[in-house]
Amino acid sequence: MTAHAVAASRVFDGERLHDHAAVVIEGDRIIAVVPRRDVPAGMPIRDLRDGVWLAPGFIDTQVNGGGDVLFNDAPTPQTIRTLAVAHRRFGTTALLPTLISDTADKMKLAIAAAEALAATEPAVLGIHLEGPFLSPDKAGVHDRRHLRRPETTDIALMTAPRRGLTLVTLAPEQAGTGTIATLTAASVRVALGHSTATYAQTKSAMAEGLSGFTHLFNAMRPLEAREPGPIAAALESAGACYGLIIDGIHVAPAMLRLALRGAGKPMLVTDAMPPVGGKQNAFTLNGEKIAVKDGRCARADGTLAGACLDMASAVRNCVRLLDAPLTDALRFASRNPAEFLGLGDRLGRLAPGYRADMAAFDSETITVRQTWVAGETDEG
Ligand SMILES: [Zn+2]
Repeated sequence: MTAHAVAASRVFDGERLHDHAAVVIEGDRIIAVVPRRDVPAGMPIRDLRDGVWLAPGFIDTQVNGGGDVLFNDAPTPQTIRTLAVAHRRFGTTALLPTLISDTADKMKLAIAAAEALAATEPAVLGIHLEGPFLSPDKAGVHDRRHLRRPETTDIALMTAPRRGLTLVTLAPEQAGTGTIATLTAASVRVALGHSTATYAQTKSAMAEGLSGFTHLFNAMRPLEAREPGPIAAALESAGACYGLIIDGIHVAPAMLRLALRGAGKPMLVTDAMPPVGGKQNAFTLNGEKIAVKDGRCARADGTLAGACLDMASAVRNCVRLLDAPLTDALRFASRNPAEFLGLGDRLGRLAPGYRADMAAFDSETITVRQTWVAGETDEG
């Protein structure tokens, strides 16, 4: 296998910036990050244009749709491929196709499809099941008819050994005592979402192994003086990882800035719907029309239905709306989600031994120019 290098005026390795550096790749792995001048003579090298940064590829743990398809509509390998292609243009090199609350049969199909692709497509890390074990009082756009408590067969389905990883968003108060411990013992990642859990219920869930918070602030009990709820539990815990939808619509910037000051790890997610990387400005969810207007996906009654957001825009918004340093935004888009998923030793950084998943982007506009997934580029 011949090694080759990609050089940029600035390389962010997930931790720090290197000026005029090169990432040396062999096969699907990174073998070194070196000063540009130290690239051995004779090694093929691709020099990126000035002003283009190289950073770890983005990891999106919440992708419902993209490229005009919705995972729930057709939970097949082909749909997941379409999602991966649609989101890659925006720097996403790894993702979890996300199934919104649906029937047990649909869950089985979705899991099988993700499992098939996790074996062949490096960009597909597994599956995110957002529901159906959610609170009817915080359903948001989820169809209440699908919401229920987990049964033995559900637990067996979620914990069955598989190659790809499984993330489950649930409401701890619906799941029942011990469920989260059973799931996490089987290496399932569990996040709280669409929940009315109190602070005490959230802390119990975290003691059982819950480590994530799905779209923090949205569809959960709000912060209150005497009932701090899940948001305070998340923000004060160093081990917590919280997904943030930074689209200028879902959460006010002041709340998001508060989250960035928390003890845990912020993680950018898109909660993307079919219009991302697609051409249409409407779609159907649970038989209801969702219109896209001014970047907002909403049902006729105004309920938000996911987002029209891509990861590059999430990074850009993090910098422009929240005044976060670009390097922080990049870490929230790559290293933090990798660590949340237990993949922090192979994804989310540009370092020897890590998979060569990278995004090259214009540092002013945060426009993605080129990506690499497991060393394979999408351009010639
Ligand atoms: Zn949701």
